Amino acid sequence: MINIVLAGPRGKMGQEALKMIASEKNFKLLAVVDRIIDPNLLSQLDSYDMKETIIATDIEECFRNVKPDVFVDLTNPEVGRSNTLCAIRHGIRSVIGTTGFSTEDIESLSKQCEENETGCIIAPNFAIGAILMMKFSQLAAKFMPDVEIIELHHDQKKDSPSGTALKTAQLINESRGEGAAIKIDNGPARGIEISGINIHSVRLNGLVAHQEVIFGGTGQSLTIKHDSYNRTSFMTGLKLSINSVMNINTLVYGLENIIE
Ligand code: NAP
Repeated sequence: MINIVLAGPRGKMGQEALKMIASEKNFKLLAVVDRIIDPNLLSQLDSYDMKETIIATDIEECFRNVKPDVFVDLTNPEVGRSNTLCAIRHGIRSVIGTTGFSTEDIESLSKQCEENETGCIIAPNFAIGAILMMKFSQLAAKFMPDVEIIELHHDQKKDSPSGTALKTAQLINESRGEGAAIKIDNGPARGIEISGINIHSVRLNGLVAHQEVIFGGTGQSLTIKHDSYNRTSFMTGLKLSINSVMNINTLVYGLENIIE
């Protein structure tokens, strides 16, 4: 049995995660951390014994009262950053789906994990198809180094570019060597340049999470595209991360490092 505390249970991802956790026989939800106490929050989960689940508003206090095996964060970058630090300092393994962490955040959390000998998985995208999109892009970049990324998300998304786009750019940059053409123009309508790759962010009502990685070559182009149509697409990866983090004592950034 893996005992879990989840932060962000009223959110779009948190709601989906609650259903997934409740449906898994070897997962038990000890507590949720929220900004408010909503007595109806857990009533939707009819398969679940809610009387045993604590709703906490203070994460420190929560960890003083319950000792989970895994902490899951699905909030926002500011809250997620301090929640993760708090969990690691308490020696609690963490699975962080929250996006918007900087490279410095990840490096500093990684150090904390080493000092506390605690495992943590930070996964900007739990969708297996999105991980494959990144892997295929990494391969394509070896042969077609000229590339741009268009990422499209719902209009409530707080960070841009998306964590997935940043990670894709980083992976492509690692594999394409020196082959990329010199950039022609970086005017204001050319997106943001990350790791030498232009990323364009679209935010629209009706979208969930989508990304196109477009490679250009002489007389040809290759587009690798992934679409998450709803948030259940993220739950297989979240489940995998919760199970996997039990066996690691360092920080792992990206689900691609877990699925292989
Ligand atoms: P959302 O609907 O805005 O949910 C965030 C939730 O966090 C809200 O219920 C918010 O409450 C709550 N919250 C804010 N402060 C909190 C605190 N101090 N303690 C506990 N909860 C707090 O966002 P979402 O779409 O669920 O996404 C959540 C995060 O996951 C985002 O960073 C998003 O980019 C990321 N995400 C990751 C993946 C992945 O595969 N890794 C996929 C999709 C999204 P209020 O509404 O009251 O502020």
